[in-house]
Amino acid sequence: MIGAGAAGLAAARALADAGRSVAVLEARERIGGRCWTRRLPGVAAPVELGAEFIHGRPRATLDLMARVGVPGVDSSETQRLLDRGRLREVDAFDAAQKAMSRPPSRDVSFAEFLARKKLPALTKRLATMMVQGFDAADPRLVSARDIAAEWSEAFETAEMRPQGGYRPLLDFLAQGLDVRLGSPVREIRWRRGEVEVNGLRASKAIVTLPLGVLQAGSVRFSPHLRKEEPLTALASGPVIRVAMAFREPFWEKRFGDVAFFHAPQSPFPTMWTPLPMRVPLLTAWAGGPKASAMTGSSRRDLVDLALRSVRTVFGRDPKITAALVQDWAADPFARGGYSYVKVGGERARRALARPIDRTLYFAGEATNTEGEAGTVGGALQTGLRAAEECL
Ligand SMILES: Cc1cc2nc3c(=O)[nH]c(=O)nc-3n(C[C@H](O)[C@H](O)[C@H](O)COP(=O)(O)OP(=O)(O)OC[C@H]3O[C@@H](n4cnc5c(N)ncnc54)[C@H](O)[C@@H]3O)c2cc1C
Repeated sequence: MIGAGAAGLAAARALADAGRSVAVLEARERIGGRCWTRRLPGVAAPVELGAEFIHGRPRATLDLMARVGVPGVDSSETQRLLDRGRLREVDAFDAAQKAMSRPPSRDVSFAEFLARKKLPALTKRLATMMVQGFDAADPRLVSARDIAAEWSEAFETAEMRPQGGYRPLLDFLAQGLDVRLGSPVREIRWRRGEVEVNGLRASKAIVTLPLGVLQAGSVRFSPHLRKEEPLTALASGPVIRVAMAFREPFWEKRFGDVAFFHAPQSPFPTMWTPLPMRVPLLTAWAGGPKASAMTGSSRRDLVDLALRSVRTVFGRDPKITAALVQDWAADPFARGGYSYVKVGGERARRALARPIDRTLYFAGEATNTEGEAGTVGGALQTGLRAAEECL
């Protein structure tokens, strides 16, 4: 198994439970990959630097939560948008769905589709903000058909969070597995029925490397992996998040229970609170082109830009007590936040997922073909699927 994220751990757990011997090679010194639950002093809630919410009702996530005994916490979705100096109430989820209600029969980019549509300017603005923030996508590249399919269902159910964060779920999967941390894979040598990686030999391997890592070519396949088509038809969307702790949740006094604050003109266009948990934590979020523009900046610069966004939204300059920053596109073992489909790439996920010679199997969020790509639930599902294929 290559990678100890949600997909790799789900697959390894399923194989181990079926009595197979599995070793998991993980580059980092921790498990979880793009799920990374941290803590901040003075904040009595988990601080997620990767996945935080449960989108929809993904079977694999809900089953795992039930096994571990972790309940879901309904999260609030009230939103305000900074518009001509005022924070007005909006519903970006609803606007996004309206904008994409009648998808094009021939695929075009999201930007082109929206430009052709007659819609109020605010609806277009919110939908564009969603495609960049929620999907981490470049509106000029992303498939309008894929976004329409995703959004037709994505906002039908209230978002939840796993109580205590994602960490306990992944710890549960990893229990008793042979996970070798600090083991970056640089080359995968294979032929039918045999794989050699980092001095280990096996009859099969499941590759759960993130899309961005596969695209970067930092892991060599010998012989070459013939997956150029799907790899160019998908993109790995950049995301930067900054978790900021304050002395008090200063926004509550003025605005009450608001979950999301949007200021599309800011470097970090969206900020959110951990409601219903009342703790002094704000998450600043940038995805898509906004994140591309900042990726690779120093931690200090990113915190400054996040604070500038706080100033823009709230018109004040509160002191932060601590901050955590994660720039996923700059992370060599992620090279992006999560995947999206480019115009015309409808079949790419299936092609990426296709096993080779009953020897190499592929899992990971980008290979999900059940409409759950880009999520933890989707990654878990692909791990279970790949384990089944192997068995
Ligand atoms: C900021 C952010 C917010 C998100 N929010 C949500 C959310 O709210 N809800 C949701 O459902 N999903 C969310 N997601 C998406 C979700 O986190 C991912 O879809 C999911 O965790 C991906 O799991 P994976 O196993 O496919 O990949 P990963 O978790 O990336 O696992 C791949 C593993 O491979 C390892 N690896 C990489 N290169 C090598 C190498 N050369 N050798 C060995 N190991 C290697 C990595 O370190 C990693 O551990 C978010 C993602 C990000 C980045």
